[in-house]
Amino acid sequence: MPSDMPHFILSHERIICFGTCPRRYAFTYVLRRPPEVVSLALSLGKAVHDCIAHVERTGDPFEPDLSARLTALDASSASTFDLALSLMFMWHYWRRRRTEEDVRYVEHPFCLTTDAGIPFRGRIDRIAFHPGRSEWIVTDYKTGKSKTPRASVATNLQLGIYALALSKLIPDTTPIQGELVYLRDADTRAAQMVPGTLAWVEDRLDSAYRDILNARTYPARRGWWCKSCKYSAGCRTLAAIPPSHLDALKALAEAEDPTMRADAAAHLCTDRVAVADHALRYAARYDPDPRVRHTAASDRGVRS
Ligand code: SF4
Repeated sequence: MPSDMPHFILSHERIICFGTCPRRYAFTYVLRRPPEVVSLALSLGKAVHDCIAHVERTGDPFEPDLSARLTALDASSASTFDLALSLMFMWHYWRRRRTEEDVRYVEHPFCLTTDAGIPFRGRIDRIAFHPGRSEWIVTDYKTGKSKTPRASVATNLQLGIYALALSKLIPDTTPIQGELVYLRDADTRAAQMVPGTLAWVEDRLDSAYRDILNARTYPARRGWWCKSCKYSAGCRTLAAIPPSHLDALKALAEAEDPTMRADAAAHLCTDRVAVADHALRYAARYDPDPRVRHTAASDRGVRS
C-alpha cells in the first residue's frame, strides 16, 4: 500500500461484517484471526468471479479456465464442479443477451474518498455502457441462493457503493443502473441509482466509519448467520480479553497515527499478549509504516 494512503479504509465487507455482528468484525479485522473453517462457498464464488473476468478479458471458452481454478482450490469434487459449471453456463446465457453493451471494466478495483473525506475501497464485478440508452450499468454477480427483494434493490448498499464509485471515477454518469445478477438462475434485479441514492450512500459510509472507529466493545450479535460464522467455536473467547489489550489491538488495527500504532505494538509485545499474535504478524507484514512493522516484528520471530 502506498505510504500516503490512509491506514484505515472502509469497504462494503467491513460495513456488513460490523453491522451483522461486531464480535465477528473484531475477530476478522482487529485480531486478524484466521478462519476456523475455510468456506467452500466463498472459494467457489471467487473462482466463478475470476473465471468470468478471464472470459470477458480474453474471449476464451470458460471450461479450461474454470477447471484449472477448481483444481487449484482442491475443490474439484463432482458436486462442486457441477455447481460451478452450472453457474458459468447461466452467466454465458445471460451474457449472450447483453451484446449491445460495451463492457468497459471487469473486476475493477477502486479506492476513493467520499465528499466528507471517508476513504473506501472495493471491486466492481462489471461496468458497462449501453450506447442506445446512453446509460451506465454496474453489475454485481451473486453465486449464492439468497436474493435481495426486488423492492429493495434501489437501496442495496453494495450497488449504491458501486454507483458512487463509478460517479467519482467517471463524471456525468448518473443516473446509473445497478443490477444484481443471480447466477443460479440468471435472475437479474435492477434499479436506477439516482443522485439521491448516492447522497444516501455517502451518509451511510460516513456513519459506518464513525460507528466502527468509535466502537470500544464488540458484543456478540447472534442470529442465523452464526451457522456460517468462521469463528463460532471461539466466539466466547473475545469476552476474556482485558480491555487494555483490546484497546491496544484496536489502535494497532485502526489508528491513523503511526506513533499510536507503534506504541500499541510495543505494548502488546512487551506484555506478550498471546491473543495478539495474528494481529502483530499482520502488522509486521502489511502496516504501511516501517516503524510499526519493525516494532510488531520484534521478539515475535516475524519479519516485515
Ligand atoms: S458465532 Fe455468531 S455471535 Fe459469535 S462471532 Fe460468530 S456471528 Fe458473532
